[in-house]
Amino acid sequence: MIKINGSEGEGGGQVLRTSASLSLVTGQSFQITDIRGKREKPGMMRQHVTSIEAACAISESTCEGLDIGTSEITFRPGAVKAGNYNFAVGTAGSTNLVLQTVLPPLLFADGPSHITLEGGTHNMMAPPYDFIERSFLPIINRMGPTVSARLVRHGFYPRGGGKIEIDITPSPLTRIESLDRGALRSVKGTAMFAGLPFEIAEREVKAARKVLGWDEDAIGVRELPEDQGPGNILLLEAEYDQVTEIVSGFGKLGLKAERLAKTAANRMKGYMESEAFAGPYLADQLLVPFALAGGGSFTTVKPSQHARTGADIIERFTGRKFEFDQQESGVFVVRSST
Ligand code: ATP
Repeated sequence: MIKINGSEGEGGGQVLRTSASLSLVTGQSFQITDIRGKREKPGMMRQHVTSIEAACAISESTCEGLDIGTSEITFRPGAVKAGNYNFAVGTAGSTNLVLQTVLPPLLFADGPSHITLEGGTHNMMAPPYDFIERSFLPIINRMGPTVSARLVRHGFYPRGGGKIEIDITPSPLTRIESLDRGALRSVKGTAMFAGLPFEIAEREVKAARKVLGWDEDAIGVRELPEDQGPGNILLLEAEYDQVTEIVSGFGKLGLKAERLAKTAANRMKGYMESEAFAGPYLADQLLVPFALAGGGSFTTVKPSQHARTGADIIERFTGRKFEFDQQESGVFVVRSST
Protein backbone atom coordinates (compact mmCIF):
# COMPACT_ATOMS: atom_id res chain seq x y z
CA MET A 1 0.00 0.00 0.00
CA ILE A 2 1.52 3.33 -1.09
CA LYS A 3 0.94 6.10 1.46
CA ILE A 4 0.61 9.60 0.10
CA ASN A 5 0.46 12.80 2.09
CA GLY A 6 -1.83 15.01 0.01
CA SER A 7 -0.49 18.23 1.48
CA GLU A 8 3.05 17.68 0.23
CA GLY A 9 4.51 19.81 -2.57
CA GLU A 10 1.76 21.47 -4.56
CA GLY A 11 -0.78 19.92 -2.18
CA GLY A 12 -3.70 20.17 -4.62
CA GLY A 13 -6.07 17.95 -6.55
CA GLN A 14 -3.49 16.76 -9.00
CA VAL A 15 -1.74 14.67 -6.36
CA LEU A 16 -4.95 12.70 -5.97
CA ARG A 17 -5.68 12.36 -9.69
CA THR A 18 -2.15 11.30 -10.56
CA SER A 19 -2.21 8.72 -7.76
CA ALA A 20 -5.50 7.23 -8.96
CA SER A 21 -4.32 7.07 -12.58
CA LEU A 22 -1.05 5.41 -11.71
CA SER A 23 -2.68 3.06 -9.24
CA LEU A 24 -4.84 1.76 -12.10
CA VAL A 25 -1.92 1.42 -14.48
CA THR A 26 0.48 -0.21 -12.02
CA GLY A 27 -2.03 -2.20 -9.93
CA GLN A 28 -0.77 -0.76 -6.63
CA SER A 29 -3.18 0.32 -3.86
CA PHE A 30 -2.76 3.67 -2.19
CA GLN A 31 -3.95 5.56 0.81
CA ILE A 32 -3.95 9.34 0.69
CA THR A 33 -4.36 11.57 3.73
CA ASP A 34 -4.71 15.36 4.00
CA ILE A 35 -6.19 15.56 0.49
CA ARG A 36 -5.70 19.02 -1.06
CA GLY A 37 -4.07 19.98 2.22
CA LYS A 38 -2.58 23.19 0.81
CA ARG A 39 -5.84 24.55 -0.60
CA GLU A 40 -7.98 27.18 1.09
CA LYS A 41 -10.83 24.69 1.37
CA PRO A 42 -9.04 21.35 1.79
CA GLY A 43 -10.65 17.97 1.18
CA MET A 44 -12.31 16.60 -1.91
CA MET A 45 -14.61 18.78 -3.98
CA ARG A 46 -17.29 17.42 -6.31
CA GLN A 47 -14.87 17.43 -9.23
CA HIS A 48 -12.33 15.31 -7.34
CA VAL A 49 -14.99 12.84 -6.22
CA THR A 50 -16.12 12.46 -9.84
CA SER A 51 -12.54 11.79 -10.92
CA ILE A 52 -12.20 8.96 -8.40
CA GLU A 53 -15.69 7.62 -9.18
CA ALA A 54 -14.67 7.60 -12.84
CA ALA A 55 -11.46 5.74 -11.97
CA CYS A 56 -13.56 3.12 -10.14
CA ALA A 57 -16.10 2.91 -12.98
CA ILE A 58 -13.53 1.98 -15.62
CA SER A 59 -12.13 -0.77 -13.42
CA GLU A 60 -13.24 -2.96 -10.61
CA SER A 61 -11.58 -0.75 -8.06
CA THR A 62 -12.85 -0.02 -4.59
CA CYS A 63 -12.44 3.21 -2.72
CA GLU A 64 -13.05 3.66 1.00
CA GLY A 65 -14.04 7.04 2.38
CA LEU A 66 -15.01 8.67 -0.91
CA ASP A 67 -17.19 11.72 -0.24
CA ILE A 68 -17.30 15.47 -0.76
CA GLY A 69 -15.17 17.17 1.88
CA THR A 70 -13.28 14.01 2.79
CA SER A 71 -9.52 14.24 3.43
CA GLU A 72 -8.59 10.59 3.31
CA ILE A 73 -9.33 7.71 0.96
CA THR A 74 -8.00 4.22 0.42
CA PHE A 75 -8.03 3.07 -3.19
CA ARG A 76 -7.62 -0.55 -4.27
CA PRO A 77 -7.33 -0.88 -8.04
CA GLY A 78 -9.06 -3.51 -10.13
CA ALA A 79 -8.66 -4.45 -13.78
CA VAL A 80 -9.24 -1.61 -16.23
CA LYS A 81 -11.93 -2.31 -18.84
CA ALA A 82 -12.33 -0.57 -22.14
CA GLY A 83 -15.90 0.53 -22.89
CA ASN A 84 -18.46 3.30 -23.29
CA TYR A 85 -18.49 5.54 -20.27
CA ASN A 86 -20.42 8.64 -19.29
CA PHE A 87 -19.22 10.83 -16.43
CA ALA A 88 -21.05 13.91 -15.22
CA VAL A 89 -19.38 16.34 -12.86
CA GLY A 90 -22.54 17.41 -11.07
CA THR A 91 -21.37 21.01 -10.88
CA ALA A 92 -19.36 23.08 -13.30
CA GLY A 93 -16.27 21.12 -12.23
CA SER A 94 -13.75 20.48 -14.97
CA THR A 95 -14.47 17.60 -17.36
CA ASN A 96 -10.87 17.81 -18.54
CA LEU A 97 -9.50 16.99 -15.11
CA VAL A 98 -11.70 13.88 -14.98
CA LEU A 99 -10.24 12.99 -18.37
CA GLN A 100 -6.74 13.56 -16.99
CA THR A 101 -7.51 10.81 -14.44
CA VAL A 102 -9.01 8.13 -16.70
CA LEU A 103 -7.03 8.64 -19.89
CA PRO A 104 -3.71 7.03 -18.84
CA PRO A 105 -5.34 3.77 -17.66
CA LEU A 106 -7.60 3.61 -20.72
CA LEU A 107 -4.52 3.98 -22.93
CA PHE A 108 -3.47 0.60 -21.50
CA ALA A 109 -6.92 -1.04 -21.68
CA ASP A 110 -7.84 -4.13 -23.67
CA GLY A 111 -9.66 -2.23 -26.46
CA PRO A 112 -11.06 1.12 -27.62
CA SER A 113 -13.16 3.31 -25.33
CA HIS A 114 -15.64 6.09 -25.87
CA ILE A 115 -16.09 8.59 -23.02
CA THR A 116 -18.68 11.32 -22.65
CA LEU A 117 -17.93 13.93 -20.01
CA GLU A 118 -20.40 16.54 -18.81
CA GLY A 119 -19.67 19.60 -16.69
CA GLY A 120 -17.29 22.51 -17.21
CA THR A 121 -15.21 22.60 -20.39
CA HIS A 122 -13.48 25.96 -19.80
CA ASN A 123 -12.65 26.21 -16.09
CA MET A 124 -10.17 28.32 -14.30
CA MET A 125 -7.19 26.33 -12.94
CA ALA A 126 -7.81 23.47 -15.35
CA PRO A 127 -6.93 22.79 -18.98
CA PRO A 128 -9.57 24.30 -21.25
CA TYR A 129 -10.99 21.91 -23.84
CA ASP A 130 -8.99 23.56 -26.64
CA PHE A 131 -5.76 22.87 -24.77
CA ILE A 132 -6.62 19.19 -24.48
CA GLU A 133 -7.61 18.92 -28.12
CA ARG A 134 -4.84 20.87 -29.81
CA SER A 135 -1.97 20.97 -27.34
CA PHE A 136 -2.01 17.81 -25.20
CA LEU A 137 -3.63 15.08 -27.32
CA PRO A 138 -1.45 15.56 -30.42
CA ILE A 139 1.56 14.60 -28.28
CA ILE A 140 -0.21 11.53 -26.90
CA ASN A 141 -1.06 10.53 -30.46
CA ARG A 142 2.55 10.98 -31.49
CA MET A 143 3.45 8.44 -28.79
CA GLY A 144 1.29 5.74 -30.41
CA PRO A 145 -2.37 5.75 -29.31
CA THR A 146 -5.17 7.42 -31.25
CA VAL A 147 -7.22 9.75 -29.09
CA SER A 148 -9.70 12.19 -30.59
CA ALA A 149 -11.83 14.77 -28.84
CA ARG A 150 -15.03 16.58 -29.77
CA LEU A 151 -16.64 19.48 -28.00
CA VAL A 152 -20.42 19.18 -28.08
CA ARG A 153 -21.26 22.15 -25.88
CA HIS A 154 -19.28 24.71 -23.90
CA GLY A 155 -19.63 24.78 -20.12
CA PHE A 156 -18.38 27.66 -17.98
CA TYR A 157 -18.31 28.13 -14.24
CA PRO A 158 -20.75 28.40 -12.45
CA ARG A 159 -23.43 27.03 -14.75
CA GLY A 160 -21.56 24.09 -16.29
CA GLY A 161 -23.67 22.10 -18.71
CA GLY A 162 -20.81 21.50 -21.13
CA LYS A 163 -20.16 18.24 -22.89
CA ILE A 164 -17.14 16.64 -24.51
CA GLU A 165 -16.63 13.26 -26.16
CA ILE A 166 -13.38 11.34 -26.36
CA ASP A 167 -12.48 8.30 -28.42
CA ILE A 168 -9.47 6.30 -27.31
CA THR A 169 -7.75 3.58 -29.28
CA PRO A 170 -4.90 2.20 -27.17
CA SER A 171 -1.48 1.36 -28.46
CA PRO A 172 1.76 0.95 -26.50
CA LEU A 173 3.23 4.32 -25.59
CA THR A 174 6.56 4.86 -27.29
CA ARG A 175 9.30 7.17 -26.04
CA ILE A 176 9.67 10.44 -27.83
CA GLU A 177 12.32 13.13 -27.73
CA SER A 178 10.72 16.54 -27.81
CA LEU A 179 13.57 18.94 -27.37
CA ASP A 180 12.74 21.31 -30.24
CA ARG A 181 9.41 22.84 -31.05
CA GLY A 182 10.29 23.50 -34.69
CA ALA A 183 9.32 26.53 -36.75
CA LEU A 184 6.35 28.75 -36.02
CA ARG A 185 3.50 27.94 -38.38
CA SER A 186 0.74 30.28 -37.25
CA VAL A 187 -0.65 32.29 -34.40
CA LYS A 188 -4.26 32.93 -33.57
CA GLY A 189 -6.40 34.12 -30.73
CA THR A 190 -10.08 33.97 -29.83
CA ALA A 191 -11.96 35.95 -27.25
CA MET A 192 -14.88 33.61 -26.63
CA PHE A 193 -17.92 34.71 -24.69
CA ALA A 194 -21.51 33.77 -23.98
CA GLY A 195 -24.26 35.75 -22.31
CA LEU A 196 -22.00 38.76 -21.73
CA PRO A 197 -21.57 42.10 -23.51
CA PHE A 198 -19.70 41.89 -26.84
CA GLU A 199 -17.61 44.82 -25.72
CA ILE A 200 -15.74 42.67 -23.15
CA ALA A 201 -14.36 40.41 -25.87
CA GLU A 202 -13.49 43.38 -28.07
CA ARG A 203 -11.48 44.96 -25.28
CA GLU A 204 -9.61 41.67 -24.71
CA VAL A 205 -8.73 41.43 -28.40
CA LYS A 206 -7.44 44.97 -28.44
CA ALA A 207 -5.34 44.56 -25.30
CA ALA A 208 -3.86 41.22 -26.43
CA ARG A 209 -2.97 42.63 -29.85
CA LYS A 210 -1.19 45.54 -28.24
CA VAL A 211 1.15 43.21 -26.31
CA LEU A 212 1.68 40.59 -29.01
CA GLY A 213 1.69 42.78 -32.12
CA TRP A 214 -0.06 39.99 -34.08
CA ASP A 215 -1.82 40.82 -37.36
CA GLU A 216 -5.21 42.54 -37.22
CA ASP A 217 -7.07 39.40 -38.19
CA ALA A 218 -5.09 36.96 -35.99
CA ILE A 219 -7.21 37.53 -32.89
CA GLY A 220 -10.98 37.44 -33.26
CA VAL A 221 -14.16 37.34 -31.26
CA ARG A 222 -16.46 34.33 -31.01
CA GLU A 223 -19.92 34.64 -29.52
CA LEU A 224 -21.47 31.42 -28.22
CA PRO A 225 -25.21 30.89 -27.72
CA GLU A 226 -26.41 32.80 -24.68
CA ASP A 227 -27.58 29.66 -22.90
CA GLN A 228 -23.98 28.37 -22.78
CA GLY A 229 -23.06 31.30 -20.57
CA PRO A 230 -22.36 33.45 -18.82
CA GLY A 231 -18.74 32.81 -19.60
CA ASN A 232 -15.64 34.30 -21.16
CA ILE A 233 -12.21 33.02 -22.07
CA LEU A 234 -9.39 34.43 -24.14
CA LEU A 235 -7.42 31.72 -25.93
CA LEU A 236 -4.04 32.57 -27.47
CA GLU A 237 -2.53 29.90 -29.64
CA ALA A 238 0.90 29.48 -31.25
CA GLU A 239 1.28 26.51 -33.54
CA TYR A 240 4.81 25.23 -34.13
CA ASP A 241 5.90 22.27 -36.26
CA GLN A 242 6.13 20.01 -33.22
CA VAL A 243 3.78 21.51 -30.63
CA THR A 244 0.95 23.96 -30.15
CA GLU A 245 0.92 26.15 -27.07
CA ILE A 246 -2.39 27.57 -25.87
CA VAL A 247 -2.41 30.22 -23.19
CA SER A 248 -5.74 31.13 -21.66
CA GLY A 249 -7.14 34.02 -19.70
CA PHE A 250 -10.34 33.23 -17.81
CA GLY A 251 -12.92 35.96 -17.39
CA LYS A 252 -14.33 36.45 -13.92
CA LEU A 253 -16.34 39.06 -12.09
CA GLY A 254 -14.17 41.96 -11.00
CA LEU A 255 -11.26 41.14 -13.34
CA LYS A 256 -10.89 43.82 -16.00
CA ALA A 257 -10.86 42.58 -19.60
CA GLU A 258 -7.64 44.49 -20.33
CA ARG A 259 -5.85 43.03 -17.33
CA LEU A 260 -6.88 39.46 -18.20
CA ALA A 261 -5.75 39.91 -21.80
CA LYS A 262 -2.48 41.58 -20.89
CA THR A 263 -1.54 38.81 -18.46
CA ALA A 264 -2.36 36.05 -20.97
CA ALA A 265 -0.58 37.87 -23.80
CA ASN A 266 2.54 38.40 -21.71
CA ARG A 267 2.59 34.71 -20.86
CA MET A 268 2.35 33.83 -24.54
CA LYS A 269 5.10 36.35 -25.32
CA GLY A 270 7.32 34.75 -22.68
CA TYR A 271 6.75 31.31 -24.14
CA MET A 272 7.40 32.46 -27.70
CA GLU A 273 10.61 34.22 -26.68
CA SER A 274 11.90 31.04 -25.04
CA GLU A 275 12.95 28.00 -27.03
CA ALA A 276 10.98 25.55 -24.91
CA PHE A 277 8.84 22.79 -26.37
CA ALA A 278 6.28 22.71 -23.55
CA GLY A 279 4.74 25.60 -21.65
CA PRO A 280 4.31 25.19 -17.88
CA TYR A 281 0.94 23.41 -17.97
CA LEU A 282 1.73 21.06 -20.80
CA ALA A 283 4.94 20.16 -18.95
CA ASP A 284 3.16 18.90 -15.84
CA GLN A 285 0.63 17.03 -17.96
CA LEU A 286 3.29 15.24 -20.02
CA LEU A 287 5.02 13.68 -17.03
CA VAL A 288 2.62 10.74 -16.60
CA PRO A 289 2.62 9.69 -20.29
CA PHE A 290 6.40 10.09 -20.52
CA ALA A 291 6.93 7.98 -17.41
CA LEU A 292 4.57 5.33 -18.74
CA ALA A 293 6.38 5.32 -22.07
CA GLY A 294 9.46 4.30 -20.11
CA GLY A 295 11.55 7.33 -20.94
CA GLY A 296 11.88 10.22 -23.33
CA SER A 297 12.56 13.90 -22.81
CA PHE A 298 11.19 17.34 -23.55
CA THR A 299 12.22 20.92 -22.94
CA THR A 300 10.16 23.38 -20.95
CA VAL A 301 10.23 26.77 -19.32
CA LYS A 302 10.84 26.85 -15.56
CA PRO A 303 9.23 23.71 -14.07
CA SER A 304 6.25 24.52 -11.85
CA GLN A 305 5.61 23.22 -8.37
CA HIS A 306 2.86 21.13 -10.02
CA ALA A 307 5.45 19.45 -12.22
CA ARG A 308 7.88 18.74 -9.40
CA THR A 309 5.12 17.33 -7.21
CA GLY A 310 3.81 15.26 -10.11
CA ALA A 311 7.31 13.86 -10.61
CA ASP A 312 7.48 12.82 -6.92
CA ILE A 313 4.15 10.99 -7.10
CA ILE A 314 5.16 9.27 -10.33
CA GLU A 315 8.37 8.04 -8.72
CA ARG A 316 6.40 6.55 -5.81
CA PHE A 317 4.26 4.47 -8.19
CA THR A 318 6.65 3.64 -11.03
CA GLY A 319 10.15 4.01 -9.64
CA ARG A 320 10.83 6.37 -12.55
CA LYS A 321 12.62 9.59 -11.74
CA PHE A 322 12.52 12.85 -13.65
CA GLU A 323 15.53 15.09 -13.97
CA PHE A 324 15.03 18.79 -14.60
CA ASP A 325 18.27 20.22 -16.04
CA GLN A 326 18.58 23.86 -16.90
CA GLN A 327 20.42 24.61 -20.14
CA GLU A 328 22.49 27.67 -20.99
CA SER A 329 19.61 28.99 -23.08
CA GLY A 330 17.48 29.05 -19.91
CA VAL A 331 15.16 26.19 -20.89
CA PHE A 332 14.97 23.04 -18.80
CA VAL A 333 15.35 19.55 -20.22
CA VAL A 334 12.97 17.17 -18.48
CA ARG A 335 14.16 13.58 -18.76
CA SER A 336 12.57 10.44 -17.44
CA SER A 337 14.98 7.77 -16.25
CA THR A 338 14.89 4.76 -13.95
P1 ATP B 1 -6.99 22.25 -6.56
O1 ATP B 1 -5.64 22.82 -6.77
O2 ATP B 1 -8.01 23.23 -6.11
O3 ATP B 1 -7.01 20.99 -5.87
P2 ATP B 1 -7.39 21.02 -9.03
O4 ATP B 1 -7.93 19.76 -8.59
O5 ATP B 1 -8.07 21.74 -10.10
O6 ATP B 1 -7.38 22.07 -7.99
P3 ATP B 1 -4.54 21.25 -9.56
O7 ATP B 1 -3.73 20.43 -8.64
O8 ATP B 1 -4.44 22.72 -9.40
O9 ATP B 1 -5.93 20.72 -9.42
O10 ATP B 1 -4.23 20.85 -11.10
C1 ATP B 1 -4.69 21.57 -12.19
C2 ATP B 1 -4.29 20.94 -13.53
O11 ATP B 1 -4.82 21.78 -14.56
C3 ATP B 1 -2.81 20.84 -13.81
O12 ATP B 1 -2.55 19.66 -14.53
C4 ATP B 1 -2.50 22.04 -14.72
O13 ATP B 1 -1.49 21.78 -15.66
C5 ATP B 1 -3.81 22.20 -15.46
N1 ATP B 1 -4.08 23.61 -15.82
C6 ATP B 1 -4.40 24.63 -14.99
N2 ATP B 1 -4.57 25.78 -15.67
C7 ATP B 1 -4.35 25.50 -16.98
C8 ATP B 1 -4.37 26.27 -18.18
N3 ATP B 1 -4.66 27.56 -18.18
N4 ATP B 1 -4.09 25.64 -19.34
C9 ATP B 1 -3.79 24.31 -19.36
N5 ATP B 1 -3.77 23.54 -18.26
C10 ATP B 1 -4.04 24.10 -17.08
